[in-house]
Amino acid sequence: MRPESLYLLFAPVTALPGVGPRLAPLVEKLAGPHVVDLLWHLPYALIDRRFMPKIAEAPAGRMATIRLRVDQHYPSASARRPYRVVCSDDSGFITLVFFHAKGDWLEKLLPVGEERIVSGMVEAFNDGLQITHPDHVVPPDRLDEVMTIEPVYPLTAGLPGKIMVKAAKGAVERAPVLTEWIDGAYLRRQGWPTWREALCHAHAPGGEGDLSPMAPPRQRLAYDELLANQLALALVRASLRKLAGRAVGRDGPLRRKIVESLPFRLTGAQARSLAEIDADMGLPLRMLRLLQGDVGSGKTVVALLAMARAVEAGSQAALMAPTEILARQHLATLETLAAGANLRFALLTGRDKGKARQKILDALAAGDIDILIGTHALFQEGVDFRDLALAVIDEQHRFGVHQRLDLAAKGHAVDMLVMTATPIPRTLMLTAYGDMDVSRLDEKPPGRQAIDTRVLPLARLDQVTEGVRRAIGAGAKVYWICPLVEDSEKLDLAAATERHAELAALLGPRVGLVHGRMKGAEKDAAMAAFSGDGLDLLVATTVIEVGVDVPAATVMVIEHAERFGLAQLHQLRGRIGRGGKSSTCLLLYGAPLSENAKSRLNILRDSEDGFRIAEEDLKLRGAGELLGTRQSGLPEFRMADLTQHGDLLATARDDARLILETDADLQKPRGQALRTLLYLFERDAVVKTLRSG
Ligand code: ADP
Ligand code: MG
Repeated sequence: MRPESLYLLFAPVTALPGVGPRLAPLVEKLAGPHVVDLLWHLPYALIDRRFMPKIAEAPAGRMATIRLRVDQHYPSASARRPYRVVCSDDSGFITLVFFHAKGDWLEKLLPVGEERIVSGMVEAFNDGLQITHPDHVVPPDRLDEVMTIEPVYPLTAGLPGKIMVKAAKGAVERAPVLTEWIDGAYLRRQGWPTWREALCHAHAPGGEGDLSPMAPPRQRLAYDELLANQLALALVRASLRKLAGRAVGRDGPLRRKIVESLPFRLTGAQARSLAEIDADMGLPLRMLRLLQGDVGSGKTVVALLAMARAVEAGSQAALMAPTEILARQHLATLETLAAGANLRFALLTGRDKGKARQKILDALAAGDIDILIGTHALFQEGVDFRDLALAVIDEQHRFGVHQRLDLAAKGHAVDMLVMTATPIPRTLMLTAYGDMDVSRLDEKPPGRQAIDTRVLPLARLDQVTEGVRRAIGAGAKVYWICPLVEDSEKLDLAAATERHAELAALLGPRVGLVHGRMKGAEKDAAMAAFSGDGLDLLVATTVIEVGVDVPAATVMVIEHAERFGLAQLHQLRGRIGRGGKSSTCLLLYGAPLSENAKSRLNILRDSEDGFRIAEEDLKLRGAGELLGTRQSGLPEFRMADLTQHGDLLATARDDARLILETDADLQKPRGQALRTLLYLFERDAVVKTLRSG
């Protein structure tokens, strides 16, 4: 249960002053659904309204707060002309200018003959001074409200800045004083304020320096966020470990049979990773291992051999893929690799219903299936293994920590192997996986050809299609990727459909299309035709749809490459260059392209090393953006900026480890405070894993 002290913070944003039913959706979209979300929504700039000159001394182009007398109103002569109010003090005149304003409202706001405090940007116009749409107009007795430093928040269309300032202020006022969860000595050494003080300061910057991520209040808030993240991951890990492990099997005839019939020898990295996995599985502890390897580094065969070990021990294994297409692809690949080894595979996806599904479930419970492959359907209710010993999760960053917990709950002491293809820099890996053990496939199978990558403007599309036509004439298979932007899936789908029609008109009927809105069977058919002999070119909308292995594909065209994350582009590109022939990747960008965007694409042109690409990308962009928001599944931080707070992350990790060593169930006083921290950052699920949570 969430602590009572946080109730106010988890009220809907409509509880805040100025946020009614009309503006609430905007605030929610911008910051989040609860009051607490506004606490994390920090200002990025400030307006200093403390400058209070006489009119004659007010320089154009500067923000000023002026005390003046209202002299005369000049209503607009026509709809296009502004309404003007002439005002003065003993030094001179200034005109206040309003477009599309209501006269009666202005007469109330600025009564002739009275004094008002007006704050806004001073402009020179003709020979005089003016302020267009002043930000504040108040009676003289309310000067204190205006003559301040005002925070400026990130906004969204339709949400007035003033409302945001008021709402954020309201949120900060609702923040309770909470028991300190940061170690006292560390807090003093850093010179950080308390949580509540940090919030007050961060939302009321007194100068530019306070906006820096290195300002102590901001560092503290970033640390809180990172600590919550690391503690949550450490708790998940601990709760998995707590369930006793078991020693699974040993190298036996089944495994040997598979290895002997492989058409290749394992690379050094594959052999090393497998040895690490074997060592884990052989111990009576739970394995929690991440198998990290660039696209094409050969993770699948490592997973297969690990699963074979489980089967050899008389148990079962499961492999969970993020999409149906990938699950099918895995099944096909594994069946081929394990041909002759007599493994009993089955597939379970959301598509299986009724009798067909029941048949699979019965076989699974009876132990007639050795290895079950599927999507998240694998951990739904009713899926019961006879004896699940190993769960492999092909992550591609699409599953969260909770789903991992769900799958682990399916078996008795299940070992877990998480495969990830996206090269994640060390800092990011910590935030996503905490202290998981890691095996890295840092060596590619031999015989891979380099990919010739080029960066071209979309304006050269005609040339590109001509080149594609020639390549197909010479026997090439081509992927053509259209971007899918979340905001307008429909439009992008239309664009892909249109591109497909154009290319089909140009190149003939051997041009296919695959996108997320298609029925499963249609997708399968298109993929099968492309990997077989039916299609030369495949237009695809998303990364997911092409997460497949077609070694004959040697050309990839990516439209609007600038809209993808570098890691995503790198993954996509990894779909070509898999066979013996040389490959070409064309990155088409929409002009104009910013310098930064150009540098990013050039990184990709110049390197095929996923880790280098990811590190470079992290330098050029914020971590949150690195992998593309939705695709990544990585935690997104509201206050921590990993390019700036990397060392805080390392400290948070060590801190989390230490906390659990001394107070595994967060029972001690600091532990209780840390529970509140976890609730504050909405890690409720993790708190539930604690004893007497
Ligand atoms: P990943 O899943 O890491 O992207 P895959 O497991 O799909 O990579 O392997 C990519 C390709 O390389 C597959 O066609 C696979 O059969 C092949 N492969 C895997 N290991 C080796 C190896 N040691 N030698 C040669 N080819 C290999
Ligand atoms: Mg694979």
